[in-house]
Amino acid sequence: MSKKFKKIGIIGAGQMGNGIAHVCALAGHGVYLLDLDKKLLDKAMSVIDKNMSRQVSRGIIKDADKKAALKRVKTGTKYEGFKSCGLVIEAATEDEALKQKIFEKLCPRLAKDTVIATNTSSISITRLAARTDRPGKFVGIHFMNPVPVMELVELIRGIATEGDTYQAVRDFTVALGKTPVNAEDFPAFIVNRILLPMINEAVYTLYEGVGSVEAIDTAMKLGTNHPMGPLELADFIGLDTCLAVMQVLYDGLADTKYRPCPLMVKYVEAGWLGRKSGRGFYDYAGDKPVPTR
Ligand code: NAD
Repeated sequence: MSKKFKKIGIIGAGQMGNGIAHVCALAGHGVYLLDLDKKLLDKAMSVIDKNMSRQVSRGIIKDADKKAALKRVKTGTKYEGFKSCGLVIEAATEDEALKQKIFEKLCPRLAKDTVIATNTSSISITRLAARTDRPGKFVGIHFMNPVPVMELVELIRGIATEGDTYQAVRDFTVALGKTPVNAEDFPAFIVNRILLPMINEAVYTLYEGVGSVEAIDTAMKLGTNHPMGPLELADFIGLDTCLAVMQVLYDGLADTKYRPCPLMVKYVEAGWLGRKSGRGFYDYAGDKPVPTR
């Protein structure tokens, strides 16, 4: 466990926030997990419980580790819970205005030397940092989904991030068992700069009728040896997050090659966000996902 950061605060208990809480608690950190209401927090705790049980059944962790880790996670809706945290990781919805509001609420409640990190997939770390009272102690830690399984984290410095903040965060991610890679502060960093245009192109391929959902995913799985097809992966990431990342690439790089596919926009407007809402390019109501086009 990282010596510098004992207690970790996490804002947003969605698929990323609950995964980050999971790995931090297993590594021995105390965790304070915040979301908008108790229902969302209860759901996050049951997801963490279920995911840890899966690790127990596969022999990755012991039942005693699971029990101890679950005890380390406290949940709440009040920012006062972050007072004793050495590091707070923001993992709320991918929306710059929303994240800025969160930082405005968060900063006055923190100890002077608490480090703030954001798990944003695409938004400028420098710009988010500038809205806080501590740009030197602000950094991007981009975990991958699902957090307990994926080894990579991208670390992103804003222009003002101090060297010792970056090093402490790097040590923290290594102690979690992750492999950090440095990415510079450009829209969508490394992984999503490459991955999201591919997903967007897959949606265009569907939109233009080049192939069905099943044909596109099968083609990319068997033709390029990807473990998941791009549309299946889009549903897994969340179509709202995919769209938000494409919009950041489009706005930030001012190149029409990043234009979000209108079909992706339409799905998000319909509330068809993928797995998390029960429908996206696949319908998840039954035992097996069923392609919708
Ligand atoms: P999600 O929709 O599963 O969860 C977002 C959570 O944020 C929800 O529980 C929501 O209630 C909460 N939230 C919204 N407004 C809030 C507020 N004002 N205060 C506190 N909580 C609030 O989304 P996610 O997939 O967990 O993504 C979260 C962040 O992680 C985003 O910035 C996203 O870009 C990033 N990310 C996502 C992935 C992915 O594959 N989904 C991968 C890496 C990073």
